[in-house]
Amino acid sequence: MNKIIVAIDGYSSCGKSTIAKALARYAGYTYVDTGAMYRAIALYTLRHNLTAQADIIAALPDIQVGFIQVALPEGEQAQHVTLNGEDVEAFIRTLEVGNRASEISTIKEVRAFLVAQQQAMGVAKGIVMDGRDIGTVVFPDAELKLFLTASPEVRAQRRFDELVEKGQQPVFEDVLADVNDRDYRDTHRAESPLRQAEDAIVVDNSHLTREQQMQVIYEVFDKITNNQ
Ligand code: C5P
Repeated sequence: MNKIIVAIDGYSSCGKSTIAKALARYAGYTYVDTGAMYRAIALYTLRHNLTAQADIIAALPDIQVGFIQVALPEGEQAQHVTLNGEDVEAFIRTLEVGNRASEISTIKEVRAFLVAQQQAMGVAKGIVMDGRDIGTVVFPDAELKLFLTASPEVRAQRRFDELVEKGQQPVFEDVLADVNDRDYRDTHRAESPLRQAEDAIVVDNSHLTREQQMQVIYEVFDKITNNQ
């Protein structure tokens, strides 16, 4: 059975990473969270007070983004993103970094810088990658493309719960406004806007449990890989 590339795209906070991780575990594939790569660059620009586009582009040769596997107490493994060798996972999941990531991801050179690295990660296939442009730009020939969606309110509630779990004290209206702003920016930017690939399978998970959703996705994955 040949390995395939699975491209998962969709709006922010619609459960892409949870689904991608579950599918990668099920398939024995590598999972790549491309949002974390944009967030790592965003963190770099915040730490170095870089706001002008030209300065951000000039800094790219000094930025190395990578991933490491970290052992969790329950014997599981988690993937953390690194910025110039430092594990920055603990700093990148804030609203501030998310918003900056959404801003810097509009810069053509930033996208080209990361897309080249993402494509290199998929050379041997056997990869589940999630983001905004995976099925359209990074891997337009991916054998399985999923496009995830859920209503803005459902997604805001999920992000709100996540932030509370991390010890933050968000205001729901702010989180909802942030979800709507980010959707707008992600779908209206000139460079690789978020859009559904024509051959993507759309999964609206507003009213699906995680189990129901994974059942559908595992079935599609099995059908495609059995035909490879
Ligand atoms: O998925 P996540 O919320 O971590 O992504 C942070 C931001 O990075 C997104 O709002 C989006 O603007 C950007 N992004 C992107 N292309 C990707 C992944 C993320 O533009 N492939």
